[in-house]
Parts: sequence; structure tokens; C-alpha cells
Amino acid sequence: MRCFSVSSGSNGNCIYVESDHARLLLDAGISGKQTADRLAVRGRDIRRIDAVVISHDHSDHVRSAGILARKFGLPVYMTARTYKAAQSYSSLGTIADLRLFDPSGPLVFGDLSIQCMPTPHDAAEPLAFVVTDGRCRLGMLTDLGNLFEGLGDLMAGLDAAFLESNYDPDMLRDGPYPAFLKARIAGEHGHISNIEAGELVAARTGAKLQWVALSHLSETNNTPDLAYRTHCCIVGSHRPVHVCPRYAAGTELRVE
Ligand SMILES: [Zn+2]
Ligand SMILES: [Zn+2]
Repeated sequence: MRCFSVSSGSNGNCIYVESDHARLLLDAGISGKQTADRLAVRGRDIRRIDAVVISHDHSDHVRSAGILARKFGLPVYMTARTYKAAQSYSSLGTIADLRLFDPSGPLVFGDLSIQCMPTPHDAAEPLAFVVTDGRCRLGMLTDLGNLFEGLGDLMAGLDAAFLESNYDPDMLRDGPYPAFLKARIAGEHGHISNIEAGELVAARTGAKLQWVALSHLSETNNTPDLAYRTHCCIVGSHRPVHVCPRYAAGTELRVE
């Protein structure tokens, strides 16, 4: 498998994954034009995408699902509960080719399949994804809520992961957000911190994990450098650690 972050952060999330026989976008959180342009920077044509799969109904993951369907003819997959909740966003509009799916079963696209795992994030039906080509397992683990039961086992079975590293606890505590928002982010249904992400990897991964791409960083309560340094401090620097950029396509990564 090959993959890269198209956008990552509270402003919008989208990850591209491909095999020899399938091309997927996981989430649709930036504009259709930005998505197409950043795919083109990495030599990919958005019109060749086989499916857009949405993890949950928050706007930073779903806002351009309708545009991708209408402008580029892409089929959009989400659960019925996610669709119902996402309809409240005015930018969603009509999704020309909407495919509602049951998260209990795998989604199959050519030689790639996606397994879904529910997370305790504060959305209607939030899901983490594991994409597999039959040999390797790639995790898309953001908007996790907390280090919930089962997450460690999921992590231990992965060959690579896009992993949430949303905030630095000190920056969040001392930062400008109102108290209710600080409590939401750090609470059981918000996001996981740099420290929690590092502790998850340190506790539950072995030699098979090829790399980690720190994802969904807060712009206000984190910095790429701090997320990277915190992770390496907890986990060590024996394994590649990438930080997904907010305003550009990330490095192309292989899982093999
Ligand atoms: Zn969310
Ligand atoms: Zn999010």
C-alpha cells in the first residue's frame, strides 16, 4: 500500500490510500479544489478515486463529501447515522452517489478492505479504520476520545498508523480556549494528547510497526515540533515518525 495525508488537523482531514487495484480517500474535510490540487501534487488524479469513506459527521471530516460526489463523480460511503447527522451542514448538499454502509462488516474495494472500529468520540457514529491489502494493516486512528478498551489490541496489530496527536496538555491548559472547550477536548469524548499517543505506541507496538504519522494536530494547542519531540521522547527514535502537515500534502509513505 501507498498513502499520504492530503490534509490533517482540526481544519480538515483527508488521507489517500492506494494499492495496485484500488484508490481511496478517507474523509473529505477540505474543499474539493484543495483535495484535487494536493492529489495532483503527488501525481494522482482525483477522478480515478474509487471511493470516499467518511469516519464521522464532524465538518472537518465530511464537509466536502457532497462536492466530491457532484464535481468529480465519486461514490461516498458513510453510515446512516453519520449521514443523518452530517445533513445539518449546509455545505454537504446532495450526495449524488451516496452508499450507506453497515460498520460491522468490512468494506471491500478491489484488493483493499476497510474494517471499522467504533470510538468514544463525540460524534453520531465515529469510526476508526484499518485498511488492509491482505498482507499489511494500516490504521487511521484519529478523533479517538480516549485510550479506550480495545485500542491497544488494535494498535498492536498494525503495520503502520496515522495516529491522532491532537494537543499538548500544557498548551491546552494555558491557551485561549474557553473552559468548556478545553474540557471537551481533554475529556473522554474529545481528542488524545501527544503524551497519550506516545504512551499508546510505546505500550502496544512491536517490531512490525513500520512508521507512525502523527495526525489531527491542533493549530492552537500544539506544534508539529512539540508533537514530534514528545513522541520521540516517550517512544524513542528507532522508528520513523512523521508529522502530517496542515496545509499541504504529506510525504508519500509505503506499507509493505
Ligand atoms: Zn471529530
Ligand atoms: Zn476531527
